[in-house]
Parts: sequence; C-alpha cells; structure tokens
Amino acid sequence: MSHDKDCIFCKIISRDIPSAKVYEDEEVYAFLDISQVTKGHTLVIPKTHTQDIYSTDEQTAEQLFARVPKVAKAIKTAFQPIGMNLLNNNEEPAGQSVFHLHIHLIPRYGKEDGFN
Ligand code: 5GP
Ligand code: ZN
Repeated sequence: MSHDKDCIFCKIISRDIPSAKVYEDEEVYAFLDISQVTKGHTLVIPKTHTQDIYSTDEQTAEQLFARVPKVAKAIKTAFQPIGMNLLNNNEEPAGQSVFHLHIHLIPRYGKEDGFN
C-alpha cells in the first residue's frame, strides 16, 4: 500500500488529518468533502496513493470503482437527494487540486442546490 507523506489524502487515511468518514474497507476510504458543493458531497479514494487516473493500475481502479455504488447508496439513504453526479478531475487544467485519485459524489436537490 503506497503512502505519500506529503499527500493530504494519505494523511486523512492515516488519521493524521481528521475527516468525516462515510465508508471504509481494506482498500477504499470515503469521507465528506471539506468544502461541500451540496449537502453530502463525498470523496471516494483508494487507500494506496496514486496521483491520477493515468497512474492508476487496474486492480486499484477496480477496487475503487467497485465500491462507488455502495457509497452512493449510503449517501442516497442518508441525505435523500433527487439525483447525484459523479466527477473525477485529472490534472490541474481539469480542476484537480489534490493529487491523490478521487471520485466526487455530488448529491443533487433540484435547481436550488446551486450546483449547475
Ligand atoms: P479536486 O479539485 O482535486 O477534484 O478535489 C479535491 C477536493 O478535496 C476539493 O473538493 C476540496 O474541497 C477537498 N479537500 C481538500 N482538502 C481537504 C481536506 O483536508 N479534507 C477534506 N475532507 N476535503 C478536502
Ligand atoms: Zn495520497
């Protein structure tokens, strides 16, 4: 399991930085985004450090993407959104600001949720 000592998401996994846990197993960690685009905005990350989609091996990708439906259902149950967007940013020009692969789960509540 690769760990980057300078990576904030690796520090979240190791509990050096606190986070609001949504889901966890051997390979994956999910937690609320510190800056909630909408209520319940969650990030799902592999526990092994990998910078972005290009540097991710198939096994890590399989483990990560396989857990997304479970996390999405947990968010759906907890927050009762009427829709949900999945988003993955790779490289700075595409909006990536933390260089540890992550999938955003963004619950939607209608036009008034402010995320368009
Ligand atoms: P990106 O812009 O790389 O796709 O998404 C990174 C996300 O990580 C941002 O939405 C940002 O709010 C979130 N984030 C950055 N630092 C922290 C942190 O320390 N804790 C949590 N929970 N989220 C963070
Ligand atoms: Zn990392």
